[in-house]
Amino acid sequence: MNAENIYFEHSLFKTYNADSAKILLVEDEAIVAEDLREQLEEMNYIVCGIADNSEQAIALAIEKQPDVIMMDIVLKGERDGIHTATQISKELNIPVIFATAYSDMSTLTRATQAAPYGYITKPYNSRDARAAIEVALYKSTLEKQLKESEKWFSATLRCVADGVIATDQHGLISFINPAGETLLDCKFESLIGKDLKSSIRITENDTKHNPLSTLAEELKPNSPRIFFGLELIDFSGNKKHVDLSMASIQHQGKIIGAVVAVRNIDERILAEKALRESEERFRAAFEFAPIGMALVSMQGIILQSNTALARMINFDAEDVIKNNFNFNNFFSPQDHLTTDHSLRQLLGGDLPFVQFDSQLKTIDGKNFDVHITTSLLSKDGLPVCYLHQVFDLTDRKKYESKILHLAHYDSLTNLPNRAYLVEEIERTIAICKQKNNSFALVFCDLDHFKEINDSLGHEAGDKLLQESANEMRRTLRQNDFIARLGGDEFVFLLPNTTSTNQVESTINKLKNILSKTFHLDDHEIRIGASFGICFYPNDGEDATTLMKHADIALYQVKNTGRNNLSFYNKVNPALGGEKVRLMTNLRNALDRHEFYMHYQPIIDLETGKTVFLEALIRWKHPSIGNISPDDFLPFAEESGLMKNIGEWLINESMSACALWNKGRETVIPVSINISSSQLNNESFYVDISKLLTLHQLTPKCVILELTEHHFLSDSEQTRQNLEKLKKLGVAIAIDDFGTGYSSLSYIVRFTPSRIKIDRSFIHGIEKDIYCNEMIETITSITKRLPIVAIAEGVENKKQLDYLVEKGYKYGQGFLFSKPIPESNIVTLLDKNLLPTV
Ligand code: C2E
Ligand code: CA
Ligand code: CA
Repeated sequence: MNAENIYFEHSLFKTYNADSAKILLVEDEAIVAEDLREQLEEMNYIVCGIADNSEQAIALAIEKQPDVIMMDIVLKGERDGIHTATQISKELNIPVIFATAYSDMSTLTRATQAAPYGYITKPYNSRDARAAIEVALYKSTLEKQLKESEKWFSATLRCVADGVIATDQHGLISFINPAGETLLDCKFESLIGKDLKSSIRITENDTKHNPLSTLAEELKPNSPRIFFGLELIDFSGNKKHVDLSMASIQHQGKIIGAVVAVRNIDERILAEKALRESEERFRAAFEFAPIGMALVSMQGIILQSNTALARMINFDAEDVIKNNFNFNNFFSPQDHLTTDHSLRQLLGGDLPFVQFDSQLKTIDGKNFDVHITTSLLSKDGLPVCYLHQVFDLTDRKKYESKILHLAHYDSLTNLPNRAYLVEEIERTIAICKQKNNSFALVFCDLDHFKEINDSLGHEAGDKLLQESANEMRRTLRQNDFIARLGGDEFVFLLPNTTSTNQVESTINKLKNILSKTFHLDDHEIRIGASFGICFYPNDGEDATTLMKHADIALYQVKNTGRNNLSFYNKVNPALGGEKVRLMTNLRNALDRHEFYMHYQPIIDLETGKTVFLEALIRWKHPSIGNISPDDFLPFAEESGLMKNIGEWLINESMSACALWNKGRETVIPVSINISSSQLNNESFYVDISKLLTLHQLTPKCVILELTEHHFLSDSEQTRQNLEKLKKLGVAIAIDDFGTGYSSLSYIVRFTPSRIKIDRSFIHGIEKDIYCNEMIETITSITKRLPIVAIAEGVENKKQLDYLVEKGYKYGQGFLFSKPIPESNIVTLLDKNLLPTV
């Protein structure tokens, strides 16, 4: 930017070599001309031509391009030497020396107008001629240099990006380059001759002082001044940020002007601002992230860590950075292998990030589970440091183990539930296989429990179940396993039991304690129980078969008289009467139109409005009467009839749904229960799609309710059906949540949009701490995921209030409405179903 010295210092120009100077002589007297030529050639000049008139002189000058012309004033023809010289110096720029006999003042004055480079008088004196020629050559060389230098300088100024403004010694503008014009948004022509300091508005940001105002005083020779971060207002009123430098131009120690260079720094400021903002954003995201974050050098040293990580590990973030802590120190040694392996994979280059589960140690040595995502930060293609994102799994693990517990135990009696029982049977089978052992499986059903429940009420029933469960637990051996299947059904797994005698003696003990008197409120009650027994491996080699056979044995007892026991291998197939009859009846039920559907509303607990309806199958047998789906559906499954029944009920439910949605603005979907055999069927997806089309329903009109073991069975077919249905847009609900394997990983994998928490938990509200806990745990999970929790079996206001308080959105249950026939639905849909008191 400092233009001060460019003027004379550059060395682009060759200097003239006097020895070979070419001279053109213009002389009307041939003898004089010849004489002069001889003299000049003796002095080593080249005489490149001789002319005696103006026209010839110009023609030769053009042709020969002499370095100097020696011109007589008197020439042949009309034009004299002064005319000729004037034209030559104007058009050809060749120095002319007048050689003349005249030296009168008027001629000299006239000759001056031709800007000659010297005079010599005739007759020639060699020394004078030489001196005149040398002076002319030198002067012309200097002039040429100056001209070229000017050209070079102005071309430079034209292409520099900074605005350059020059002034004369009075501070009046004498030059502005194109960049300056753009910067000021004003043409040079309109500023030329104007006072620089008052024409250009440029101020220091804080003092508002105009640095140009003191231009004259401040510019000492050789002292360029530089100002940073000024504000310029151009001639259109736009503000610009600029840096400015100014310097004086001096000639022979005198200041003859100044040059001001102005650089627009708006883009730089914007870029700096953007960089600052992006750094701040990163810093804020890093610092305030809810998960732990650390920047770690390639050698493992923590360079930066955020508050969340500091809190997790219980360290002071600043301390850690000061002391060059190694991130590896926070892993237990056995985890170093995983970490190293993952980081190597990352450095391998193909993966954008790696993820791994590990344990971290707090400063005070406590281990906790984490999930880490690591990526590399690179600069110019080279890795600079690792970015670790640390997700604390403590809460999730806590929830999982809590749910796992809740999922394995029956909430009423705190005995293991069906899921746990199946696991236990499988575990015991595995051990028995190795050791060649056997065991007995006993199904037990309390006699007349239903009557007690109905006459004394549910609470008395529950109490009876709890007390009898306690008694049975106490009676059995430490190694025996007892589970509650639901209702009044219990199961015992008696390991190392091979003989019927062993079993009978255990069962007798159980019968004894059950037949004692139970005190329920003011009532004294005695109960009996029936037992169905089978053995591993004789009666079955897997859990399903064994459970089925113990159940059949139990049916046999109930059929033949109660308070007794029966072994499966003794069951007379002909006597398995009730079940066989049921199966036959079931086979005919579809054809005889004995099935029909009821629908139960699920309501929004805030508005009291029905949000969807669950389809529930009903069977009215002409002679037996109503048979509960819980009682006949297992047989339908077992006998393979479920496929046909399923198809019928889906068709029926969709048809009803299409009707109740007719002319309705918001869709009220139907929620259909799906059994595992249906979901495992190859044609299931196609059947559903076809029926949707048939009834002109969108996939949004249908919700499928699946119980957890559907997820568990996890067959390829089931998975495919589920994926395709989800893609189609059919919502999936997990039914009876909490009674199966309720693992959060299934929720994550199958992303249901609804979870129906089993009614046994609702039933236990405020009576059973497990139930309350389960309900709360589910709220906290669903709050974090796009899942709606639905409470099943809401029967009273107390339960409703509790659920609302815990944030439940939807509920279903007798408090709002029992399952109703299709014909009542339209009337019901416009009702508010929340109890008024
Ligand atoms: P689920 O899917 O849990 O259905 C809800 C059951 O809870 C229904 O019994 C309903 O009448 C009952 N319920 C609703 N509100 C209350 C309440 O406030 N208190 C009590 N104690 N019970 C309430 P339902 O109709 O006897 O059905 C029993 C089970 O049979 C169903 O349990 C479901 O697993 C199965 N089921 C019923 N219909 C179908 C069906 O169409 N297809 C399949 N695959 N299974 C079905
Ligand atoms: Ca259901
Ligand atoms: Ca349910």
